[in-house]
Amino acid sequence: MTHKARKSASKGAKTSSKECVLAFDLGGTKLAAGIVDAGGKILEETRVPVSLELGKDAVLQQISDAGLALLSGFPKVKKVGMASAGPLDARTGTLLDPMNFTSTREGSWGKVPLASILKKRLKRPVWVENDADAAILAEAWLGAARHQKDAMILTLGTGLGTGILVDGKLVQAGQGMHPEAGHLTLRIDDPEVLCGCGKRGCAEAFLSGKGFTERARKKLGQPKLQGEDVVKLAQQRNAQALQLFADYAHLLAMALHTYVMLYCPKVIIFAGSFAKASDFFLPKATAELYQLLCTRENWKNMMPKLEVSKLENRSGLLGAAYIALQGTTR
Ligand SMILES: [Zn+2]
Repeated sequence: MTHKARKSASKGAKTSSKECVLAFDLGGTKLAAGIVDAGGKILEETRVPVSLELGKDAVLQQISDAGLALLSGFPKVKKVGMASAGPLDARTGTLLDPMNFTSTREGSWGKVPLASILKKRLKRPVWVENDADAAILAEAWLGAARHQKDAMILTLGTGLGTGILVDGKLVQAGQGMHPEAGHLTLRIDDPEVLCGCGKRGCAEAFLSGKGFTERARKKLGQPKLQGEDVVKLAQQRNAQALQLFADYAHLLAMALHTYVMLYCPKVIIFAGSFAKASDFFLPKATAELYQLLCTRENWKNMMPKLEVSKLENRSGLLGAAYIALQGTTR
């Protein structure tokens, strides 16, 4: 199994400099696929909206079509890495009914042996990892956690993914799972906020880009509003939009405080499409987090550095490449 190989991310991918792999990043709205070399350079890349509404088989077809198209130009590629929204079991490469992958026609996906399906179609071994875990491995390889053994990433998109490194090793949970810190309960008493997992009050329901946009739609009475529209309103100093971001920053600080208490990262990195709006929430969240942590300062400075990923929304794709480059034959 590959878990041991991928656990230490701080030393870079140990492989031939000429080796290239096929990498995928599957999220709730789009699929990215690319050919990546051992230095982390993306040689070719495609991005397509995923057909969730058409159901599981259509999405699996999109993945294999995108992969085969890239492989036709790089026939010597021998390995495939896949970062996917979870939950999933990385040991077997099985999706466990991913909560953000549903269609009105077919409902939820159930268990999907993604690695073995893609192995048959692409005729190469496939390694699957949770997308946030892949993202923190990419940050340790090429990004903001490169010189940091204790680091955490929050991916703010359709969901709120979390990936954690402690002493340079990926933090995993029991039963082949990983810490689902996005489903930490922030406000159990808020009946309006339903998380994709079916529970009310999860951090993800408030802090994902999707959750933020849904709250903004209700508050501003505009059902078709997009996240970018709220950013534009905030840029124009619209009071309601600014308040939405202030509320978001406050809740983010509370969630971060819990994450710091559990994992003590030196850096927390924000990635995903909603991280682009960080100018409107990160300064306030940083100040509030400091207020929550400063009472400990006499004996330990627990305040992490908070920063936005510089991997331009490619941390999942690059992390998928990293796990394939590290992978041993299966
Ligand atoms: Zn949840």
